[in-house]
Amino acid sequence: MHEVAAAPAWVSLAYLVSGVLFILALRGLSSPASSRRGNRYGMAGMLIAVVTTLVTHEVASLPEILIAIAIGGVIGFVTAKKIAMTDMPQLVAAFHSLVGLAAVLVAIAAYLNPEAFHVLDPSGLDILQVSRIEMGLGVAIGAITFSGSVIAFLKLNGNMGGKPIMLPGRHIINLGTLAAIIVLVGVFHLNTPELFVAIVVLSFIIGFLLIIPIGGADMPVVVSMLNSYSGWAAAAMGFTLHNTAMIITGALVGSSGAILSYIMCRAMNRSFISVIAGGFGGDTGGAAGGEAKEQRPWKRGSAEDAAFLMGQAEQVVIVPGYGMAVSQAQHALREMGDLLKAEGVKVKYAIHPVAGRMPGHMNVLLAEANVPYDEVFELEDINSEFSQTDVAFVIGANDVTNPAAKTDKTSPIYGMPILDVANAKTVLFVKRSMGGVGYAGVDNDVFYMDNTMMLLGDAKKMVEEIVKSMAH
Ligand code: NAP
Repeated sequence: MHEVAAAPAWVSLAYLVSGVLFILALRGLSSPASSRRGNRYGMAGMLIAVVTTLVTHEVASLPEILIAIAIGGVIGFVTAKKIAMTDMPQLVAAFHSLVGLAAVLVAIAAYLNPEAFHVLDPSGLDILQVSRIEMGLGVAIGAITFSGSVIAFLKLNGNMGGKPIMLPGRHIINLGTLAAIIVLVGVFHLNTPELFVAIVVLSFIIGFLLIIPIGGADMPVVVSMLNSYSGWAAAAMGFTLHNTAMIITGALVGSSGAILSYIMCRAMNRSFISVIAGGFGGDTGGAAGGEAKEQRPWKRGSAEDAAFLMGQAEQVVIVPGYGMAVSQAQHALREMGDLLKAEGVKVKYAIHPVAGRMPGHMNVLLAEANVPYDEVFELEDINSEFSQTDVAFVIGANDVTNPAAKTDKTSPIYGMPILDVANAKTVLFVKRSMGGVGYAGVDNDVFYMDNTMMLLGDAKKMVEEIVKSMAH
């Protein structure tokens, strides 16, 4: 009855090869230098898995499947081409919602037509016990992923306020709902349609309830968590469908998403448990923000000053942040770096793990502008170098340089590791105004230091002006 047992050896081998390709894809994606190769491995693995599945299963209508793949492929291609880098987190959330929905739909199909999915017991009358548990788990995790991702998308896309929505007694409601889902999956062997519907509906509700109390600041962590859930939903459905490739892929996505969420939580000094429990402890994540406020003296510089100071330097370390992404300053920045190098200045880029609004945000943009990978350094590899650096050029970054993370216990970013730009001989700080604050909504002491010169203006325009001054 189980198709897996009957599958010829070459099918298992093909699925194994696709699994290995997925692992190589993850490995490739761990560094910008190898990410293109990683993507290719992933595409090849998926092609092998899909073709193997298609040729080894009875397919009711191949043309319909091919048409569906073509339509989905075109939509995905056009969306990916058009999407702005800064909108990537919500696109990822939207994609996860589709994975969750697919798991729910597959479970519904398998429940309604168990024969077609080979999940009937030997009597041929009832669904296999074990398949029901897998189905129940798959549909529950899929539904949570779907509704959670829809809320994450709406919050990130600005259709819904980013502020946490705290329902009174939410922890009790959430725990009660989760417990009810677990009990229902446990008694799903009774196999009544009402039970199935109840699992689906409660899971949609809990996905919604878990995500609404999470503030905008934690949303990227949530997106990565939902990515992990979508993987587990796919793995559970892989068990229902006896599809090895789906189990392997689901488990890889599930575990890598969980690891990424954990890394992001650590880099932002958030508690992993509090994020997945949904706004636990009422931490608003600071994104609601306070205003930057007190009047303190600060120095303003011009593009010419910046060009002069950097031209005299032995080493310049560029610290990009969210503002660089918003103004798309990366190409101008690379040009500036090229000019400096031509003058014999050593140029390095320092990347904070949560600079920008998603993991790897800065790396992707710098790679797009063809900044050489060997000039790009992670926080732990470059932080000690600021004290031997003549100019730290902070462009559109703020929170990731804020010393309050080390000194002010009341700060929302307290405990987050920061790039120690203040240790450089001179700090050039590019932002649009003194009033604008970073993501965490807090003032930054670096603006007011004796060795800081504020370069106020749009990041791209400012760098273009600096480039012009250098060229003279
Ligand atoms: P940030 O603290 O949000 O600061 C952005 C800075 O860019 C601000 O000072 C802003 O000041 C400036 N800016 C905005 N638009 C600009 C423009 N067009 N030209 C010039 N400057 C511009 O950015 P960050 O230092 O990159 O820190 C990232 C923050 O996001 C952290 O708090 C992190 O925890 C959070 N976060 C990151 C992730 C992730 O995965 N990367 C996920 C979730 C949350 P003005 O308005 O004055 O211009």
